[in-house]
Amino acid sequence: MKQNLLDCTIEELEALLNESGVEKFRAKQIFQWVNKGIASVDEMTNISKLLRQLLDERFHTGILHILRKLESKKDETKKYLFRLHDNNVVESVLMKYTYGYSACISSQVGCRMGCRFCASTGIGFARNLTCGEMLGQLITIQKDAGIRISNIVIMGIGEPLDNYDNVVRFLRLVNHKGGLNIGYRHITLSTCGLVPRILDLAKENIPITLSISLHAPNDELRNKLMPVNLKYSIDKLIEACKIYTEETGRRITFEYALIKGLNDSKENAHELAFLIKGMLSHVNLIPVNEVEGTEFEKTSKERTGIFKDILEKNGIEVTLRRELGSDINAACGQLRRGLVKE
Ligand code: SAH
Repeated sequence: MKQNLLDCTIEELEALLNESGVEKFRAKQIFQWVNKGIASVDEMTNISKLLRQLLDERFHTGILHILRKLESKKDETKKYLFRLHDNNVVESVLMKYTYGYSACISSQVGCRMGCRFCASTGIGFARNLTCGEMLGQLITIQKDAGIRISNIVIMGIGEPLDNYDNVVRFLRLVNHKGGLNIGYRHITLSTCGLVPRILDLAKENIPITLSISLHAPNDELRNKLMPVNLKYSIDKLIEACKIYTEETGRRITFEYALIKGLNDSKENAHELAFLIKGMLSHVNLIPVNEVEGTEFEKTSKERTGIFKDILEKNGIEVTLRRELGSDINAACGQLRRGLVKE
């Protein structure tokens, strides 16, 4: 199978060209072309036909095939289902905010974490995505929608820290000046809490925003919802978050999906406030997405308001997640789930 040009750094391209006796500066041109989004090597018009042939024998450009695209009528949210080169599928979402376009991308085909409420649970894990496939999602969306993405959230299918090496490589490449050039401060990585990898990430000198999928304020409850907690308890997770903040200076986002009658009581709100008080952090409250086949239901608006008030009275910063693209099942994992079930 052909290799993906989007997996290569400029230095790797240079080494490759060097082997074939081609001038080094071509590497930068190739890197820029593939980051612009081209369907074929032949679109590299400032590169000789001979070199293009050479590239074409071994590489493809990394652009992804759009299997399906859903566009929201309520807002400008677009949801993409992509077919990868081995016929696996993943999905990504493009959202428009006042500050620009944000893309939510997948990091794995499926997920191994087993969170009970998640659409990716129970339909199997196939493999990790490569760095080039993560870049490919962004580049293909930019090209298709004719826009420039300014923010990225790695919050689609998969657990990014379970695909650590490829994700770190992706982060460095997406930040590269000759590439998409997206600042680390405009990137959020969401994790269910793989503590050792959080500590590794803290040392990479990649100051992205870390988002922790917490969803429960105590181990008893979190153990039931998220099997990862059996391995890394809440105390260990919070400790790792504090170290991440010390090392990077970045504040932590805690994601908390409110589930009716399960984690949305006043007592839960007080527990949560106590847990994270004094941390450089904020809480993002999300009404749980009701996934077919799971028993979890959304908390009412009223209860959500009470929960939010308690956090705020305790000095915790809280945002309520806006539900974009609700008419197109924009929550990640849902399209792939539908397709796999079919
Ligand atoms: N594995 C990573 C990123 C992918 S999940 C993580 O766990 O963070 C992206 C986010 O969606 C996580 O916060 C996850 O907990 C949340 N999520 C999954 N299923 C959900 C559902 N049914 N309703 C609301 N949020 C959900």
